[in-house]
Amino acid sequence: MANRSVFAAELSWPDYHAAVKNGETAILIPLGSMEQHGHHMPMHVDVLLPTEFARRVAGQIDGLVAPAFTYGYKSQQKCGGGNHIPGTTSLDGATLVNALRDVIKEFARHGNRQFAIINGHYENSWFITEAVDLALRELRWDGIASVKVVVLSYWDFVAAETIEKLYPDGFPGWAVEHGGVLETSLMLALYPDLVQLDRAVDHPPAVFPPYDVYPVKPEWTPPSGTLSSPKQASREKGEILLKVCADGISLALKNELNTAPSATRVAAAR
Ligand code: ZN
Ligand code: MN
Repeated sequence: MANRSVFAAELSWPDYHAAVKNGETAILIPLGSMEQHGHHMPMHVDVLLPTEFARRVAGQIDGLVAPAFTYGYKSQQKCGGGNHIPGTTSLDGATLVNALRDVIKEFARHGNRQFAIINGHYENSWFITEAVDLALRELRWDGIASVKVVVLSYWDFVAAETIEKLYPDGFPGWAVEHGGVLETSLMLALYPDLVQLDRAVDHPPAVFPPYDVYPVKPEWTPPSGTLSSPKQASREKGEILLKVCADGISLALKNELNTAPSATRVAAAR
């Protein structure tokens, strides 16, 4: 009997091959980073969250989740605290672009034609765009013109009415959410054992000038490493975020991708 895992790497190659060879099974690629997330959370938050969204959505669209990218582009001071903080471990832009381009082309070689990049680390954004563009261009040169890629970051599916519910005291903006209410609530809902809310540092949202300086000025980043306070985070808020983001991503992929249930795969989360 075929293995029913939604994680591509957990399948045997014949089961994987049967699922993907006709190109109708969506491949979801989570992208994260190894990046400090304050005193209260581990450093792979940006990997765990998009991987979980990919797992949930793959179960709904009969897709497969590729192994996540566990390193990402360099943390930027005004949206991730900065690459100078111990623990944060990043790739050069060209390395990330080349690695993602290679992976997309490899999956295409297996027959896959429908892709979704599920991003969990803001700084990856334009490097994902570049990798997708190069992969599509090179695949066209090889005569493969039917590859489609949806690129998204999960927080963009949080609509205004949810923001009002989650931030009754005012929304600081996604840029300074790093290690704040959004990520901490999601982690409390999914991995409470990895969160130490008693160690969270309460501070006002970070304020930056309208320019960047390199090398960074460490004093611009709050000493905790978070850019806004996680104190108002809760498991309940995390459950709300999980639902709106998973539903939104699922609908987007159903609308944009041509996927058909595979005979050898049964839609089921692991
Ligand atoms: Zn993060
Ligand atoms: Mn990040």
